Amino acid sequence: MTEGRILVGRFFHESHSFSPQITSRDRFEIRRGKDLLAHARQSGTTLGGIVNRAEELGYEAIPTVSAVAPPGGLVDHDFYVKMRDTLIAQARQERYEAIALELHGAMATAELSDAEGDLLTRLREAVGPHVPIGVGLDLHAHVTPAMLRSVDICIACKENPHSDVVLCGERVVECVADVLDGKLEPVLTVAKVPMILPGAAETTAGPLAELHARARACASAHPEIRDISLFNVYPHADDTDMGQAAVVLTNGPSKRAQAVATDLAQLFWTWRNQFRDDLLTIDGALDLIARDRDRRPYLLADMGDRVLAGAPGDSTLIIERALAHGDCPRGAIPVTDPVSAEAAAKAGIGAHVTLDIGGRMTPGFVPLRVSGVVADLSNGRFVIKGPFGAGEGSSLGDTAVLLVDERLSIMLTSKPGFTHDPAAFTSQGIDVAAQDFVVVKSGYHFKLNFAGIGTPLSVATPGIGSYTRGLLHRRNARFWPEHEICEPQIRSVVYGISAKRRRP
Ligand SMILES: [Zn+2]
Repeated sequence: MTEGRILVGRFFHESHSFSPQITSRDRFEIRRGKDLLAHARQSGTTLGGIVNRAEELGYEAIPTVSAVAPPGGLVDHDFYVKMRDTLIAQARQERYEAIALELHGAMATAELSDAEGDLLTRLREAVGPHVPIGVGLDLHAHVTPAMLRSVDICIACKENPHSDVVLCGERVVECVADVLDGKLEPVLTVAKVPMILPGAAETTAGPLAELHARARACASAHPEIRDISLFNVYPHADDTDMGQAAVVLTNGPSKRAQAVATDLAQLFWTWRNQFRDDLLTIDGALDLIARDRDRRPYLLADMGDRVLAGAPGDSTLIIERALAHGDCPRGAIPVTDPVSAEAAAKAGIGAHVTLDIGGRMTPGFVPLRVSGVVADLSNGRFVIKGPFGAGEGSSLGDTAVLLVDERLSIMLTSKPGFTHDPAAFTSQGIDVAAQDFVVVKSGYHFKLNFAGIGTPLSVATPGIGSYTRGLLHRRNARFWPEHEICEPQIRSVVYGISAKRRRP
């Protein structure tokens, strides 16, 4: 039995640089101490993988803080500083041999475009060079030099949708344990290419499936390679040096790792024109739903207004088109609108109301006037069924369900929330199986959590949740296809805290 302690925690947010909404304290679920550990142990999260695997390996997990919010606008800077300083103060006080954290990797505040880089730089300064630090990141992280300089282990989940987040946490802890045991001298080699993926962003098919297969084959052929993480960089940030990245973790310096990282980054570039989606229009999707009812409920991914990509979730376009559609499909649609949710609550269950809903947050969106009956009121809290985020508490804020035209259940939520899970709907009294379609503000993860419940259908919709060339005015970032980029020079950069430096 190993005796040792690993400091654990989580600070997780994907921050949209162009959302008008600041992500404030009230959007975060925060846990500390024994509550953090108990919750993590039964959750389908990277932190869950970290805690459970650490304990299986015989380590005591020392909790710091866990703060997680649905994607959204920039994190309130003062709140970020408070959480950061809490975590670092505990890192100074507690006794432990290593640190393992779950971070997103694309968190930003109004003052920091690379929040994780800031957090990890300060954490490294606080704990010194001898303490191994491992981080488990989201696949959509924007890995930066400040992050890679500060950590020993940097591993992302590999799948989109993220089916392997628990495994990611387990890997982080296993590598950290090997560093403590003297079995691993971690070196990180990164190669980046200045591009994003405008489409074909799932790892189960297409060019990404091939890229990941090559990475896996490479890792299994060469024992010095402990991990290869290929990042789908989050496209709605505005940072310098943004781009698709390959990060190779090796035991000791490795020339092969440099070749592997640059080859994989080069493939992203070579195959860049294959990263395209061919999505249905809203009317095309509604026609299909009316035509082929055997496959209902359809799960309509509102790609432009995805809360899971940082959009506010206040679009009413699908509602407008569904009301105009001749074949009258039945549907459930979430809309972020605290004003209408409050008005419906004041009117009470059973009241007939006319409200101007949605369209209050995303630039260019306008409210839609609807009349209906208030069918349900709640505080919007629910527990994610999973597997993605399983067991996590979540909140839509005070929520009202408005039944419009006796067929559309419009879920008016006070906050942009996670709707990639059926529990978001069933907790509001909506019978998912009885619908012709359910709108989810998620592009990928809903396919895991609604598996076996309906038929996924991704719809091309406007909004700031999907990439549209020229839509957002970027001041810092330069990447294809937003900018004309000639054949980029792809080079690898090596990061490693040497064994000599590590020894106290
Ligand atoms: Zn992600």
